[in-house]
Amino acid sequence: MRKNIVAGNWKMNNTFQEAEELISVIADNLDEKELACEVIVCPPSIYLEMSSDYAEESILHIAAQNVSEFENGAYTGEISASMLKAMDVEYCIIGHSERRKYFNETNKQLSEKVGRLLDNSIAPIFCIGELLEERESENHFEVVKTQLNEGLFNLNSDEFSNVVVAYEPVWAIGTGVVASPEQAQEMHSYIRGLIAEKYGAEAAENTTILYGGSCNAANAATLFANPDVDGGLIGGASLKPDDFVKIVESF
Ligand code: PEP
Repeated sequence: MRKNIVAGNWKMNNTFQEAEELISVIADNLDEKELACEVIVCPPSIYLEMSSDYAEESILHIAAQNVSEFENGAYTGEISASMLKAMDVEYCIIGHSERRKYFNETNKQLSEKVGRLLDNSIAPIFCIGELLEERESENHFEVVKTQLNEGLFNLNSDEFSNVVVAYEPVWAIGTGVVASPEQAQEMHSYIRGLIAEKYGAEAAENTTILYGGSCNAANAATLFANPDVDGGLIGGASLKPDDFVKIVESF
C-alpha cells in the first residue's frame, strides 16, 4: 500500500557506539511526534540486531542495505534473507547504484535478491536511476525502464504489491547536486506510468516511489510536495540526526 516513507541509508559508516547513539537520538526525537510518514533506518548489517532492538521500542523500522541472492549454503561472507528476517528486518535496499557500480550487480542478480526477500516477507526498496551521461544523452527514461523490466517486472501482481521503488539519479547521489522538483516529478510520474502499464492503474497508484540523491533538510519539502514523490531515501543527511529529523518532518 502506498505510504510516505523517509529511509536513512547509513552505508558503511559509524562505529558500534556511534550507530547506537545515532539511532537512539533519532528515536528520542521522533517518538513522541505525530508523523506523516514511516521512518526507516538502514544500518550496516552488523548493527541490525542492535537497531532492531531500538526499533522494537520506537516508531522506527529497520532495513538492511543488501542481501545474498542465494538461499543458504557455501557463500562465505554473505547474509541470507532468512537471517535478516530473524533480526526483524522489514525492508532491504536492493540495487543501490554503489552496489551496481562497485560490486557489478546486474539486474538479473537483483531480481534474484528480490525473490529471496519476498520469500521471507521482507519488502525490497528497489533502486533505479541513470548516470549523468545517460541523462545528458537523453537516455534516462530508457535506462530506468530497462532496470524495472529486468529487475522487478518478472514479479506477479501480488509480489509486486510489496515493493518500494527508489528513483536515485546517480549524478545526484552524494554530489550535492539534487534533481529539481520538476525532474523528480517527471521521472516519478513516468515510473508510475510504467507500473500502470504492467500491473494496472490501481497497483501503480498503490506503489510507493521514493526520491534519493542529495536530499537534505533544505530541499526535502519541495521534493516531497510533488504528487508522485512519496518520500526519500537519504544518504549523507541521514547520519546527522537533526537533519534527518527535519527531513522526516518535511511532510
Ligand atoms: C543514497 O546513497 O541512497 C543517497 C541518496 O545518498 P545522498 O543522500 O548522500 O546523496
